[in-house]
Amino acid sequence: MNKTSIYGLTFEQLEAWLLERGHRKFRALQVWDWLYVKRVTDFFEMSDVHPEALSLLDEHFAIRTLSEHIKQESVDGTVKFLFRLPDGNLIETVLMRQKYGLAVCVTTQVGCNIGCSFCASGLLSKSRDLSSGEIVEQIMQVQLDLDRAGKGEAVSHIVVMGIGEPFDNFGNMVDFLHIIKNQKGLDIAGRHITVSTSGLADKIIEFADMDLRINLAISLHAPNNELRSRIMKINRAIPIEKLMQALEYYLEKTKRRTTLEYILLRDVNDQQEHALELASLIAGYGPLVNVNLIPYNPVDEHSQYQRSDRETVRAFFDTLKKQGISVSTRLEQGVDIDAACGQLRSKQIKASALG
Ligand code: SF4
Repeated sequence: MNKTSIYGLTFEQLEAWLLERGHRKFRALQVWDWLYVKRVTDFFEMSDVHPEALSLLDEHFAIRTLSEHIKQESVDGTVKFLFRLPDGNLIETVLMRQKYGLAVCVTTQVGCNIGCSFCASGLLSKSRDLSSGEIVEQIMQVQLDLDRAGKGEAVSHIVVMGIGEPFDNFGNMVDFLHIIKNQKGLDIAGRHITVSTSGLADKIIEFADMDLRINLAISLHAPNNELRSRIMKINRAIPIEKLMQALEYYLEKTKRRTTLEYILLRDVNDQQEHALELASLIAGYGPLVNVNLIPYNPVDEHSQYQRSDRETVRAFFDTLKKQGISVSTRLEQGVDIDAACGQLRSKQIKASALG
């Protein structure tokens, strides 16, 4: 039987687990430090922890559950990892070098059921949720890779935007956030963590109530129901009005700046009329809402969608600006590797199916 990942325990859970087995509270602090600060990959390297506690931990938990299957490096420094899970499934994790630091984009599910029509990840429907430990371990594997390079680099930012809908794996995702924020461990500041959702309104409200002080991004991608339902089938169940109500609740409750992601698809949602409609949809929210325009990475399987040309992107940007909307554009990264989210994974799965 596969052992569960030790990274899946919150600090409090580890403390309670050790206490229940007759070990003192401070052992959790020692173990946590070896895991996240000294970053050992074998329990028996934890030299100041009592051997009995180590044997117990080793009997029940694993430090490594993911194995690196493929690593692709881009000329711009982006690194895409394909990890194999103990059950043989493959997941993608991406390291991005930004001006502000090193960001890791993590996956939360094996496949995705949301079925956005432009997405490489959604081509393969969800086979299971990832555990909190499997999500944390993606960061640890990337950090260990950086450690091996010996340049003293550390992951500073996390985006929960990889394969899957994080809010469809809510409990594990929230545990994951508590673990990576913990100051005794990875200590990633909440303002450096962004969770992205396709718009599960009820979960946005639940998330707001938790007040985790983490950034939220919502994939909007269209300014009206007709178009959004065509691009994102989730909109048929949760229309824009319901999403906007959840957003309003979130803004009111958290007072945190929120991003609306907007992938520009040529001649689909990138026209002036769409920019104006989007501006009027969100006009009331002021600077608390930022629109992030994303150039589309074409995927073979979705040949109906193409990237908007530069002039169109510029015009869309300018129209929003003129309407007083806070707007930015996401820089493309890793364009010389399988850049679209889920692309590397779907290619690998197809290749092995072909044999
Ligand atoms: S864009 Fe995100 S939510 Fe939509 S199908 Fe892809 S992984 Fe799922």
